[in-house]
Amino acid sequence: MSEKFYVTTAIPYVNSTPHVGFAMELVQSDVLARLMRLQGKDVFFLTGTDEHGLKIHEAALKQGITALELCDKNAVEFVKLTEKINATNDYFVRTTNQKHIDFVQDLWKKLEGKGDIEKRHYEGLYCVGCEKFISEKELEAGKCPVHFDEPKRVSEENYFFKLSKYTDQIRELIETEKVKVVPEFKKKEVLNMLDQIEDVSFSRPEESYKWGVPIPGDENQLMYVWCDALPNYISGVQGTDFWPADVHVIGKDILKFHAIYWIGMLLSAGYELPKTIMVHGFITSEGRKMSKSLGNVKDPFEYIEKYGADALRYFLMREIPTLDDGDFSAERFQIVYSEELANTFGNLVSRVFAMTGKYFDGIVPDRDFDDEWPAFVGQKWEKYLQNMRKYNFRCALEEYVELACAANKYVEDQKPWELAKTDREKLAGVLYNLLELIRHLNLMLAPFVPVTFSKVLKAFDAEVIVENVRAAKAEREWGQLKSGSKLNKIEILFPRIEIS
Ligand SMILES: [Zn+2]
Repeated sequence: MSEKFYVTTAIPYVNSTPHVGFAMELVQSDVLARLMRLQGKDVFFLTGTDEHGLKIHEAALKQGITALELCDKNAVEFVKLTEKINATNDYFVRTTNQKHIDFVQDLWKKLEGKGDIEKRHYEGLYCVGCEKFISEKELEAGKCPVHFDEPKRVSEENYFFKLSKYTDQIRELIETEKVKVVPEFKKKEVLNMLDQIEDVSFSRPEESYKWGVPIPGDENQLMYVWCDALPNYISGVQGTDFWPADVHVIGKDILKFHAIYWIGMLLSAGYELPKTIMVHGFITSEGRKMSKSLGNVKDPFEYIEKYGADALRYFLMREIPTLDDGDFSAERFQIVYSEELANTFGNLVSRVFAMTGKYFDGIVPDRDFDDEWPAFVGQKWEKYLQNMRKYNFRCALEEYVELACAANKYVEDQKPWELAKTDREKLAGVLYNLLELIRHLNLMLAPFVPVTFSKVLKAFDAEVIVENVRAAKAEREWGQLKSGSKLNKIEILFPRIEIS
């Protein structure tokens, strides 16, 4: 039995089309899923959409359709993104699915059975844009700092979840990293937040929330977003034994709900706990906050259409710091694409394959001498894997870039086209080394640019390599490429793209 690995994205709210920030989260999760599959693990990768709440109800009213029709319409866009970006999710959960609804109602009963649910009178300010209660302290000039709207004053009956009962237990779990929050500075944020945690409202009256899962035994109350959405991580793998999650990949704005609310719910209901919560930052566009009014929203579909999914995936993983905020600039996209993919890798592959074709009829020549490569490549792998383990994809790719640059320099230093006239034997050794370097580079790129990875794999004696690639450890050894095997034709990996 192989080891299990379960990774999730957060589930975005379906009131608009997919954001590039979600595209990044999807790719981060997919990189982990692919990496673990390469290591032979049995992987489950879950994503989906969060579909209840007043905002959906109101948006649907405006469009003259039902809330569910609106969800159906928008969820399609998110599913389309998973496909276009080559995410290998095993399931796409929608919180309007009956299977999910049954699960959260059952979970509710567990919390209630534990004595952790209580009906209370609640008065407060509510921002519909945020779909949450907001405190006086958070307001700026009487308005929500995110939506610049005046919140509604609400006075109603709510069911509360007694979260404060669990704060000490949660603090210990976070401190001891039994539930690990990555990066470290986010762990500290959670510990600070725990000082101010109170019981939380887990329901809203039907007449004010309109669109949600009914509370078992009280149809006049609907479940509030966190109580409905967070359990998708379990409802989505029902019938399997994948829970608990190894990694929840989330944005920094929902850290509190994952590291505190969710853990509290699981403790109350008696479920196992997720092992790691990996927190990414926000993406700005051309140095400014992305907004429709500024007209600087980056559309993931547009970039995929123009450059291909691999290019967008690589850029998001390489340019945006994995665990912090970053900027998406069109100019940087062009530079990263042409320098780190087209020139450094694409050109190297086509040159080396062409030379092997010309001088050795496309047959992998004999391994003759290794220079410093085995040691150097070994070091690169070590650092690459260290960074991958720390969820620092950007730095892992730095190792790829350095190795690719070294391979290019080797071509310039050795000048195979001159060796072809003077020293056939050395030429064979040099080309062997270059082909073997390409194989390693491709393996490093595998979780990031899967389309390219497959193209290069097919160009090698694919059968041999595909079979072995699951034993990634052996594949990381120097000299696995078989002399005498025939190379296939290589496609152009990263075509030149004109700047419009
Ligand atoms: Zn707001």
